[in-house]
Amino acid sequence: MLNEKSKQLHEEAKKFTPGGVHTSIRNIDPRLIFTKSEGAYIYDADGNKYIDFQAAFGPYILGHNYKEVNDRVIESLARTDLYGVGTTDLEIKCAEKITKYVPSAEQVLFCNSGSEATYHAIRLSRAITNRKKLIKFQGCYHGWHDYVARNMLSEPHMIGKRDPGSAGMMDEAIDNTLICTFNDLDNVERTLVENKNEVAALIVEPIPHNIGCIMPEVGFLQGLRDLCSKHGTILIFDEVITGFRHDLGGYQNVSGVTPDLTTMGKAMANGFPMAALAGKKEYMERFNTNSGGDVWFAGTYNGHAIGTSATIATMEIMETEPVHQHIFALGDRMRNGIREIHDRLSLKAYVAGFGSVWTTYFMDFEPKNYTDLMQNDAKMYVTYRKKLLERGIFKMPMNIKRNHISYSHTKEDIDNTLQAIEDVLKELV
Ligand code: PLP
Repeated sequence: MLNEKSKQLHEEAKKFTPGGVHTSIRNIDPRLIFTKSEGAYIYDADGNKYIDFQAAFGPYILGHNYKEVNDRVIESLARTDLYGVGTTDLEIKCAEKITKYVPSAEQVLFCNSGSEATYHAIRLSRAITNRKKLIKFQGCYHGWHDYVARNMLSEPHMIGKRDPGSAGMMDEAIDNTLICTFNDLDNVERTLVENKNEVAALIVEPIPHNIGCIMPEVGFLQGLRDLCSKHGTILIFDEVITGFRHDLGGYQNVSGVTPDLTTMGKAMANGFPMAALAGKKEYMERFNTNSGGDVWFAGTYNGHAIGTSATIATMEIMETEPVHQHIFALGDRMRNGIREIHDRLSLKAYVAGFGSVWTTYFMDFEPKNYTDLMQNDAKMYVTYRKKLLERGIFKMPMNIKRNHISYSHTKEDIDNTLQAIEDVLKELV
């Protein structure tokens, strides 16, 4: 696959932007420059076409450049946009829709990125509880800010240790975030007891998709709910990936476990910048968007007509068309097809996934937490993805990253991908 134009343009980009990319995770080979996207496909500057499963890390639940959503955004923009002071009819409709479906969402506030949403959720939790500490899980990602940017994809020797994700972070923020092990309730309970009356919030991806797809064991999420209630700790479900993708009501609606606060983003607006924080009314009313509220909430672009109209349109399509049925069925087709390939090749690998999300771990058992993932053959994982990319299957060639299916993918896309997977694995095993 030729990438000459991409290479040239990337050199150009580097003159104006450090590394030529605008988010750290894009700093990876091959540095592709994209020029077009349509449904399930993306095209680079050299004219290569890819079936896209990376979905820009998850937003594209309907597909790229989805006409019905784009049309609604354009229609809305022909009439309205953003007001410094005031509320649009789109904001009201969008908030009402989210509160209708997401069990924890008695009230909702809009912002523009998942990181903003988790920042606000944590600050609100500190205000409600008058406590400082936060629990997060090793391997989970909740955005780039100081409260949460630690112990993400830690090196093996740093698992569970003090592992800030960036230079320049505040020591106090790093040290007030405690790290627990996913699927280990005893570990969470011990941490809460050892930090009695000090833990403001526990934040968790209900399915940690930032390390592929680690499923919560039966009772784990309910156990977190019970422990948080017992210890007066706010339970935050970070549904920035799982929200809307797994169900209109998020994974909380699937699992039947209701957190106190929920953060959402990505799939809600099918690729347009939009995020939300939702939760119990008594908590949400602490924000100073409400008279008498004492927790600061602001953002020039919050509630812009682009994000609200895209969210309404995306949700309406999910309400009226078999979106989840389609992407779940294709998810099953993909996972089962890969398992059959593994059997044919006598390859010991674990195909993980839920609904439209899947990944293959090159290890012979189901991982339950980040430590288990140290058994994944990282070299094989990255080589496999790189070779698929060369065959026009777009999955970022990075370790333990998930893949997403959209409403625009077809059975043929899945079958073509399965063929490419079989060809690549035959070369590798
Ligand atoms: N929370 C989760 C679970 C995420 O996966 C991400 C981004 O990948 C974020 C929060 C941060 O969202 P954003 O990149 O929109 O700031």
